[in-house]
Amino acid sequence: MEQSSSYSDRMTRGEPRLISLVVPLFNESAVVERLVTRIGSLVESEPGYRWEVLFADDGSTDDSVAKIVEHRAKARAPIRLLRLSRNFGHQAALTAGLMAAKGDAVILLDADLQDPPELIGSFLRKFEEGYDVVYAIRKTREGDASNNFAYKLFYRLFRRVAEIPIPVDAGDFGLMSRKVASLVIAMPESDIFLRGLRSWVGFKQIGIPYERPARAAGATKYSFSKLLKLAASAFFGFSFLPLRIATSLGLITVFLALCYSVFAICAALFFQSAPRGWASVIGVISFIGGAQLVCIGILGEYIGRIYKQTLGRPLFIIAEERELAADSDSQT
Ligand code: UDP
Ligand code: MG
Repeated sequence: MEQSSSYSDRMTRGEPRLISLVVPLFNESAVVERLVTRIGSLVESEPGYRWEVLFADDGSTDDSVAKIVEHRAKARAPIRLLRLSRNFGHQAALTAGLMAAKGDAVILLDADLQDPPELIGSFLRKFEEGYDVVYAIRKTREGDASNNFAYKLFYRLFRRVAEIPIPVDAGDFGLMSRKVASLVIAMPESDIFLRGLRSWVGFKQIGIPYERPARAAGATKYSFSKLLKLAASAFFGFSFLPLRIATSLGLITVFLALCYSVFAICAALFFQSAPRGWASVIGVISFIGGAQLVCIGILGEYIGRIYKQTLGRPLFIIAEERELAADSDSQT
């Protein structure tokens, strides 16, 4: 609230709006220089705004932070550096940056230049037209074919089960107005799926298609287990379908078991020959057992999440915060 009033104050005084760039990074030493250089070109090409760049270092063990300090002047904007106390994951690092951002608009982008800063100009034009959320849609993707297939499958499956419409092939790369950013960070969820929350908030939203390039250097920092975790946060955070599958599976199993019992009783009464063979019995028992285990597992997934939420642990811990002035050598 306080920030939105300062925003309208600025508007009435006609001051340039502040745009925050939030960049999470985890061992991205190889791309830092190119990244800050491209951010610098963006800042130069958009002189109508004030800028701040927030790097959320997600527990990097390489010299990413030293590289940011070394090349800070190239960003042509003040830099704030948040260092998380360990690796908390991409979504947590993004949230840390989002919470620290002061801008009238906040833009999330990955460090590896798969989210080209050059697209941000068109985000800002849409923002000026009155859109609260502008997100980038990946028309094509370069990179590993099997990963790309998995992503495509995920987004399509997710669209079918999600309780709210969530745009297909849109990642976190995008702009949020101060209003939306404040609403998103006010959500007390412990399992964050930012692009879902961003859609959930509503208001005026628009997608801008682009061709997603391959990462500029280095290897992906999203391990398969981290990807699975993200997909689970999406499914369990925005859909009750898994629970409903469990119920349906249970009902189908009970129905089949009943049919089988009726058949067995009829066979015993009218044909005097009880169904023979243990195989079928074992088959039915193990089917029911399996269905029960699946259902318990699904319940467990929700209970685990409820438990995590009740613990109320923070999403991340900031170990250090530094401000790097764009045009001075002082490191405070
Ligand atoms: N990242 C992060 N913490 C992690 C994993 C990734 O901050 O645990 C950052 C990473 O440095 C990059 C962004 O999140 O800036 C996206 O990761 P990446 O490019 O490796 O994912 P991909 O594009 O392969 O899905
Ligand atoms: Mg990437």
